[in-house]
Amino acid sequence: MKKEIIVKKFGGSSLANIARIKAIAKRILESKTKYNDVVVVVSALGDTTDELEAMAFNISKNPPDREMDMLMSTGEQISCALLAMAIKALGHDAISFTGAQVGIKTDKSHTKARIETIDANCIRQAFKNGLIVIVAGFQGATHSNEITTLGRGGSDLTAVALAITLKAEVCEIYTDVNGIYTTDPRLLKDARKIKTISFDEMLEMASLGAQVMQARSIEVAKRFNLPIHVRSSFSKEEGTMIVKNTTKLEEIAVRGITSNKSEAKITICAVPDQPGIAAQIFNEISKAGVNVDIIVQNISHTRHTDISFTVPMKDLTKAIKAANKIAKKINAGSVSQDKDVARISIVGSGMRSHQGIAAKMFQTLAKNKINIDMIATSEISISCIIEQNTTDKAVKALHKAFELQKK
Ligand code: ASP
Ligand code: MG
Repeated sequence: MKKEIIVKKFGGSSLANIARIKAIAKRILESKTKYNDVVVVVSALGDTTDELEAMAFNISKNPPDREMDMLMSTGEQISCALLAMAIKALGHDAISFTGAQVGIKTDKSHTKARIETIDANCIRQAFKNGLIVIVAGFQGATHSNEITTLGRGGSDLTAVALAITLKAEVCEIYTDVNGIYTTDPRLLKDARKIKTISFDEMLEMASLGAQVMQARSIEVAKRFNLPIHVRSSFSKEEGTMIVKNTTKLEEIAVRGITSNKSEAKITICAVPDQPGIAAQIFNEISKAGVNVDIIVQNISHTRHTDISFTVPMKDLTKAIKAANKIAKKINAGSVSQDKDVARISIVGSGMRSHQGIAAKMFQTLAKNKINIDMIATSEISISCIIEQNTTDKAVKALHKAFELQKK
């Protein structure tokens, strides 16, 4: 018996050229033999989104967000039309829609809009007519019909949200790797494909630097308990299932390792040790629109203390400006920055019940003469800030220490 509905999302690398678009069209037709109805969400072809963004910044240093959304949303509109044509050329009926057309309503925050509601009426209508539906990912519209985008990588979110709205059995995310790996397989040959991973672990890995899926989309999938299958568009091999609970969860303390080289560290020296000072500092940084990540404050021996924190590299200029301003106001010392840092993290739900994981991580780094600059923990992850040029060595050593390599 045929299953009901599947939502498949294809990333930009799966649609990089005409030959690939044709190959994807064939693959979509195959799934029509297993499912009654098929919805396909697409990203922009290849690097289109980056190219559009670069064009905008060549025109203006500070392009208006509304116009950025008008521009960036066009990439997905191209790919959904081409894919619909490719399916029709194979003899099956298909129709493409923009995000606005399928009723994806968002708030007004241009370039990082949040989905509020989806009616999906035109998709249901198309199903009745036997059509395969192709939807432009990454976009929606406000209640006053302004086009918005959902943040970079937002096609994942479109796919997950549509799968939930249509009560699909599963959402498949097609990409250029075979699934989620214990660490980035491009950086470490020994990386192993993970069969199943929990929403919490995947969310943590995505937020800490694994680049396979947009973190927000996993948050939503978790809330609605929608299983996600991450797999390759170049092979038929099973990928990784992202689910609520993995079996034998307790036995694995560390599921994966991520690294992130796109943070920078800021230190404000000789900050007066008084109530309310940290609040003032981070209030100023947040007013500048910068998200702070790890914060470390040392104990003070002299009624003064140093405060260090990390920020996304792209926000460094804004953050330094804000830090200098507040340092002056509170009579602190100098402000310094360090771009040559990296964050390395180990992630695993089993950490909740295993002892000695942090100790093992620190010992492993010590044995490899890697200095730890800052440490941060969550319930299921431990991160260290280290010198950037030691990142690859750290990944390799930790991967081995936690026995994540191929069996
Ligand atoms: N094309 C958009 C981006 O590159 C959305 C996506 O690929 O999911 O961020
Ligand atoms: Mg993309």
